[in-house]
This record gives sequence, C-alpha cells and structure tokens, in this order.
Amino acid sequence: MSIKRRDFLKVAVAGGACAALPGPAEARPNLEVPPKAAGMLYDATLCIGCKACMVGCKEANDMPVEASDQTPMWDTPADTSGKTLNIIKLYRNGTAEVKDREVDGFSFVKRHCMHCVDPGCISVCPTSAMRKDPETGVVTHHPEACIGCRYCVWACPYNIPKWDFDEAFGRINKCEFCNHRLVEGKLPACVEHCPTGASLFGTREEMLAEAKRRLALEPGSAYAYPRNTLEDPNRHEKTVPHYIDEVYGETQGGGTQVLVLAGVPFGDLDLPDVPERSFASISETIQHTVYKGMIAPLALLGGLMFVTRRTLNKDKKPEEKSK
Ligand code: SF4
Ligand code: SF4
Ligand code: SF4
Repeated sequence: MSIKRRDFLKVAVAGGACAALPGPAEARPNLEVPPKAAGMLYDATLCIGCKACMVGCKEANDMPVEASDQTPMWDTPADTSGKTLNIIKLYRNGTAEVKDREVDGFSFVKRHCMHCVDPGCISVCPTSAMRKDPETGVVTHHPEACIGCRYCVWACPYNIPKWDFDEAFGRINKCEFCNHRLVEGKLPACVEHCPTGASLFGTREEMLAEAKRRLALEPGSAYAYPRNTLEDPNRHEKTVPHYIDEVYGETQGGGTQVLVLAGVPFGDLDLPDVPERSFASISETIQHTVYKGMIAPLALLGGLMFVTRRTLNKDKKPEEKSK
C-alpha cells in the first residue's frame, strides 16, 4: 500500500530541476499547527466496527442514505462520497481470526478528512472555496465560492473531497469536523456516538500527547481509556494492545489534526505513506521560484497526486465492511 517514494521523488526531482533554473529559491516551509488546533485521535484498536459514528455523521450533517441493489434495506456506502463523509472500512488477512494483527488478523479503520496542517486542497483551490480556520485549523468547504473545478479532489493525498453528482449543479462534500457543532460547544457527532472511545476529541496537542502516552504503555497491561474527551470521569479499563509504534498524522504531509493509532501497519489501512514535506509547500515553492506566479501549482500537485493515487489503487487492501 505504501506510496513508492521513488515515484514521488521523480516528480519532486523534476520540480527541483525546474527550481534550479535562474532565479532565487523561495522555499516555502510546511505551515505551522494553528494555535488552538482542534484534534481527533482515532484508535483503531478500540474500534468495534459498529458504525455508530457513520450514523451520527449522517444525522448531524443531514446526509441521505446510500443503499445498493444488493442491500436495499441498509445504508451501505462503499466509500466516502458526496453523501457519506465518514466510513468504517475493514482490513482482513488470511483467516482473520485475531483483531489488530496483520497476519491472519483484521482491523477496522475510520476514514474521513484528516484536516491537514498544510492542506493540498486549499493550496490548489482557485477561489478560496476551501478554507482553514486560522485558530482551530478546521478545513471547511464553501459552496457559494466553489466553481466546481474539482482540483481539490485531485490535490488531496487522502482521497477525501467528493463530488455529489445528484445535486442540481454538482457540489463538493467532505467532513468539516462538524464545525457547525464545534461552534456551539458540541462534540463532533462521530465522537459523541462512539461507544468505545475509539474516536476522541480535544486539542491536537492533547491528542498527540495521549497517543504517545498509549504507545509508551506496556502491551498486556491495563489502561483506563476515556470516551469522548480526556475529561471523561468514567474511563473504562482495557488491556493495552501491541500498537504500531507511530502516531499516524504527527508528521505525514506536514501533519494532520486527525491522528491515528493502530495495531496493523498503516499502509494496510489505506493510510498512504506521504512524506513529511507537504505537497502544498513543494508545489507552491516550485511555482514561486520558477514561474513567479505565471501558473498555479495545480499541474505540480496534479503530478504528485497522480503517482500517489496510482500506487494506492494498485495495492488497495481494506475492504468495505458492509460489502
Ligand atoms: S485530508 Fe484532503 S480534504 Fe482534508 S484537509 Fe487534507 S487535503 Fe484537504
Ligand atoms: S467530524 Fe463530523 S463530519 Fe467529520 S466524520 Fe465526524 S461526524 Fe462526520
Ligand atoms: S462508533 Fe466508534 S467503535 Fe463504532 S465504528 Fe465508529 S469509531 Fe468504531
């Protein structure tokens, strides 16, 4: 599942060669984490695949069901879409006997917008219809400003923004961290509905610290896991699993505000191996250095995303749970 760094580097090096043309280098670094960055920690080892988060997300965001011909009685989306902002997928291998084990095991994974610290979707949007809150870092889409070019669809390393063809003029939809609930002091609906604490809400700083705390625990020992937020007074005790020793989202693509812990390699969970330098910073640096604003960074981001998607599609592993 890992994105081939060689492929990525080919594109980056091509850009670097361009950057070697006359003109001073104006490298733009990754953007910094916003001061009050909202955060979510999804711990796949706590997830029981109940999909309550999907139901809560649909309800809170007024999204219709997506039933297939095979399962007309149930809401059974195959992936995130213009009508489904959050999906639980399943990784399974061999006999799939043991949860959170790569070989002959299985794991759930929750996929939605990662709320990147330095988002590609915003970098390419020509009308600023994609915006990042300067304080909370929540990435929102503003349909009134959107011209339907769908560059954001191609610029997202996580394949998140989706075009809803059933809308009269089409429309981009994606998870907005339940921003309409956050401003009212409520939790994101997926967090509120999660019965196990697999989805936890707080600041990004708190979520990163909690993730690292869990990684430092002894596998097999007991830990009192919170639900909803770290302030939960009724924590539930559970045996600490063998975590993959990394917080996904701490550095990937310049960092994300949704962080992930898991017991199987992240590549098995459809989470791409993106480099630490954000695609947005690379494309904008090359653009400013060589073309001095004559072209948008779209072509470069398009190239980067092309190799990303090609590799992901080739090696795709997780299967939609409800198939
Ligand atoms: S995950 Fe994709 S849609 Fe979400 S902020 Fe990052 S680039 Fe944008
Ligand atoms: S934060 Fe809100 S919009 Fe995003 S996945 Fe959770 S419930 Fe859905
Ligand atoms: S509600 Fe929680 S436990 Fe249930 S599928 Fe969603 S993240 Fe997993």
